[in-house]
Amino acid sequence: MTAIAPEQIPSPWPPPEGCPAWCESQLMHQPERHPEDRVHFGPEHQVQLSLEPGVEQCDGGYRIEYLTVYLRQSQDQDGPRINLSQGELAGVTLTLREAGDVAQALYAAICDTAEKP
Ligand SMILES: [Zn+2]
Repeated sequence: MTAIAPEQIPSPWPPPEGCPAWCESQLMHQPERHPEDRVHFGPEHQVQLSLEPGVEQCDGGYRIEYLTVYLRQSQDQDGPRINLSQGELAGVTLTLREAGDVAQALYAAICDTAEKP
C-alpha cells in the first residue's frame, strides 16, 4: 500500500459547501454534471478600448478591441483569482491583492492628471 500525502488527495467536486456566490456556473456544478469542469467562473466585465486598433472580423468588418476581467477559481486554489485579458489573448492572472494594486495604480495615474495647486 502506498501512502498518499494529504495534499495529493483530491478534494470533492463540487465542494460540499457549494459554489462561491460569484460563480455563474452553479447550475452546471452539480455532482452528476460535468465532473471534469472543476473551475468556478464569475461574470465577465468588458471595457472597450477606443485607442486600440480595431480587430478585423471574418466578414471584413472590424470590432472595437476590449479588455475582459473575470473571477476564476480552480479546485486546487485556495481563493479566487482575477483574469485580465485583451481581446482573445490569454492575458494575466492576478491575486485579489495584485488586482487591487492595479486598480490603485490606475486611479493614481488618473489623479496625476489633476492640476497641481
Ligand atoms: Zn462553481
